Amino acid sequence: MSVRPKQYDIDGDVTTITYVPKIDGGSAEGYPTSGDARREGLIRVRTKQTRWDERATLLHEIMHDCLMRAGIRTFATLKTEELFITLLEPYLLSVLRDNPELRDYLFEEGAR
Ligand SMILES: [Zn+2]
Repeated sequence: MSVRPKQYDIDGDVTTITYVPKIDGGSAEGYPTSGDARREGLIRVRTKQTRWDERATLLHEIMHDCLMRAGIRTFATLKTEELFITLLEPYLLSVLRDNPELRDYLFEEGAR
């Protein structure tokens, strides 16, 4: 079993990931990378869910972070953004999980 990542880096800006059994406030599964949590560079992921759902939650919160960093204002409301991410996240995770050749190509060493 893989070790839970404790952080991720986007262009040198590090966000810390914490895993907690229960989330107070925010969503039920992960803490949104917005407001105070985003400013602190912190994502919280709930552990009391299936291993797959935990990973999906982490990807979900990273997608919020990416949209925020991109400055995307396409979404009229947070609810719309939430729906967009919730619909996309399981497919993106499945593509990355089920296509090792694609994954290797995308993340080939030195291709960055
Ligand atoms: Zn969300």
